[in-house]
Amino acid sequence: MTRVAMVGGGIAGLAAALFLARRGHSVTVLERDARRPGSDLDEDFFAWRRPGVPQANQPHGLLAPVRTVLRAETPDVYDAMLRMGARERNEFEWFDAPPPARPGDEDLVTVQTRRIVLEAALHAAVHRETGVDVRLGEPAEGLVLDRHGDVPRVTGVRSASGHHDADLVVDACGRRSPVPGWLAEAGCRDAVVENHRIGIAYVCRWYRLRPDGPRDPGRVKAGSVSAFAVGGVFPSDNGTFAVSLTVSTADPTRGALRDPAVFERVARTFPAVAAWLALRPEAISDVLAMGGLDNRWTGLADAAGPVVTGLVGIGDAVTYTNPTMGQGVALALQAAQWVARHAATAAQDPASFADGYHRWAGRTLRPWFDVQVAMDRANEAQLRNPARTSPQPPTAAAREKAALSACSWEDPVVMRARARIRHLVMPADQAYGTEEVRERVARWLADHPDFTPAFDGPGREEWESAVKPAGPGV
Ligand SMILES: Cc1cc2nc3c(=O)[nH]c(=O)nc-3n(C[C@H](O)[C@H](O)[C@H](O)COP(=O)(O)OP(=O)(O)OC[C@H]3O[C@@H](n4cnc5c(N)ncnc54)[C@H](O)[C@@H]3O)c2cc1C
Repeated sequence: MTRVAMVGGGIAGLAAALFLARRGHSVTVLERDARRPGSDLDEDFFAWRRPGVPQANQPHGLLAPVRTVLRAETPDVYDAMLRMGARERNEFEWFDAPPPARPGDEDLVTVQTRRIVLEAALHAAVHRETGVDVRLGEPAEGLVLDRHGDVPRVTGVRSASGHHDADLVVDACGRRSPVPGWLAEAGCRDAVVENHRIGIAYVCRWYRLRPDGPRDPGRVKAGSVSAFAVGGVFPSDNGTFAVSLTVSTADPTRGALRDPAVFERVARTFPAVAAWLALRPEAISDVLAMGGLDNRWTGLADAAGPVVTGLVGIGDAVTYTNPTMGQGVALALQAAQWVARHAATAAQDPASFADGYHRWAGRTLRPWFDVQVAMDRANEAQLRNPARTSPQPPTAAAREKAALSACSWEDPVVMRARARIRHLVMPADQAYGTEEVRERVARWLADHPDFTPAFDGPGREEWESAVKPAGPGV
């Protein structure tokens, strides 16, 4: 049995604690926030002030690995989420008939829910688990280190109640983890931090569908794109859904979107959003904005190997990305699963445990971080488009790329490739690079000789007049 101190009891920390305890390890979870959610989801979601988790009430879509890992490790948690109102959506539901099945198709499922449903289900399970001691309202204040070997070893955590000895300490403190700072204070080699600031802001509002009305507007895409903004819809649990607008932080109209009337007028200029707002839902939140986003990779290993042993990071503490791809929770659960599967070796051979984890993270998590960084470089240039007009005629490569996306909505085989990328099953070059997909896209382009990539969101003039309609008294 390995003794584990979990620093942070958010999604990553609670999930890892459960996965570990179910393998017979003993876990102490130190979590700064004192609240245990679950008795009233709306109250927990909208009224709980969580400065340490600023993304808590932003919309989340949970990618396939979330479902796959939960069903493998803690099926009771997954079932509880469904009972609490989370919904499953397989990518092939877009089509009247799915393509002939291939292995893995059944897993290409997004779990549609406010993230509080996952958090509440994890809390309920972790509090029932005898191998986990959850200390809510008790932040970790520092690490305990043994400095005798070549590489310092973390042997516990400090909190107001004293020292918590551990064979393994897991940093699950999220995007603002104090752990790299604690290591630096203790004189360890620096964590390797790579940070890219993202000039993108998210502005959202939550709605609830009328109980007697339809559950969705039918076959409508979840998002529409313009040259300088994205408008999307996140269907969630219990008839709720969020409308989200993504804009450049440099967009001069960004501040105006905080006004609910302006937000709604602008949001309706995106066809995907307009279709959902046409269902006359009830607004159930203010407009909630979030900026200050980074893509940040924090590695506790450098070229010489792990900077400490007895300590690994999971979740946003390791890889925190702009949420365009919605990969945060999926990668957090995959890391939690790796740690739980290998924890038995953490006490016996801390050096190879640390080395094994950093190698795995580099192979499995890092590529998705890199994809997001590359995507953001391209998107930022587009969102900042100074003329705020459609770009020049596209290059052949851009046309082919856009065709892949357009074709996927008509051809389930191309949709499968797209879904495998979206759900982190395989990288784009592998999924789109097959002969089958190439042939289908080539055929689609031959059938659509006039195809030119086009935005389905508003032009700048339409956007600006929705922000500030002309007319007396406006
Ligand atoms: C706008 C936005 C939208 C997103 N959308 C999606 C999405 O659609 N899909 C998706 O999968 N992901 C999404 N994400 C990412 C997702 O929210 C994170 O990846 C996820 O929350 C990571 O979980 P975590 O447990 O690592 O961190 P957190 O959820 O931030 O939890 C960290 C916990 O550590 C605690 N803590 C901090 N310091 C201490 C301390 N010293 N002692 C004790 N406790 C401490 C905090 O109180 C908190 O509870 C989004 C993120 C943003 C910003």
